[in-house]
Amino acid sequence: MFNLVLGTNNAKKLIELRMLLPEDQISLTSLSEIPDSIDVDETGETFQANAALKATEQAKHLGKWVLAEDSGLSIDALGGKPGVYSARYAGLHGQDEANNDKVLAEMKEVPEEKRGAQFNCYLCLSDPEGKIVLEDHGICRGRIAQSRSGIGGFGYDPLFIIPEYHRTFGELDLAVKRAISHRSRALRKFIPRLLQIVRMPTSSSA
Ligand code: IMP
Repeated sequence: MFNLVLGTNNAKKLIELRMLLPEDQISLTSLSEIPDSIDVDETGETFQANAALKATEQAKHLGKWVLAEDSGLSIDALGGKPGVYSARYAGLHGQDEANNDKVLAEMKEVPEEKRGAQFNCYLCLSDPEGKIVLEDHGICRGRIAQSRSGIGGFGYDPLFIIPEYHRTFGELDLAVKRAISHRSRALRKFIPRLLQIVRMPTSSSA
């Protein structure tokens, strides 16, 4: 079995990643199960740079294969903000309610036709020496609602309308998100190549 550490502490992201990765072939461990894992500072200016930092720094520290993910929301009318600051847009890390309030306030005067946005996801796999072996990305286009709807998902999900469904990710079933999200689009491209590595006789699974 190939041992892979998922380099995130976000419990909701973990659920989505676990739903998508083939656990019959890959044994997944989350950072919360590894007491000596480190908190990697997200100092990069792009999703790609932060995903790479989270994968390589953690991998070198643990001496294990690490899959890291960096994701966030880019709103057209705000010039791509909150972008890499998605998790800490209102100040402190991970305050979803305050982040959503800030976006709603900034989008107050923006007309319906200019409320386009996209979720972005970058994935990065590092070997135990800290070398990036695979990367990929996915996007999911949508629109920013005038107010919150739904209690599902996390982060900006209650604000993010999927036009084809006329519903936010907060209202839609997790199965729909699993089919169309930025994370699943990135993973669908990534998994076949990950499985090639997993099956290589030389790949150590430290
Ligand atoms: P990260 O942990 O730095 O990658 O932060 C990602 C942030 O982007 C999260 O805290 C959310 O605010 C936002 N985000 C990423 N993916 C999603 C999603 O699927 N739904 C809603 N918000 C998301």
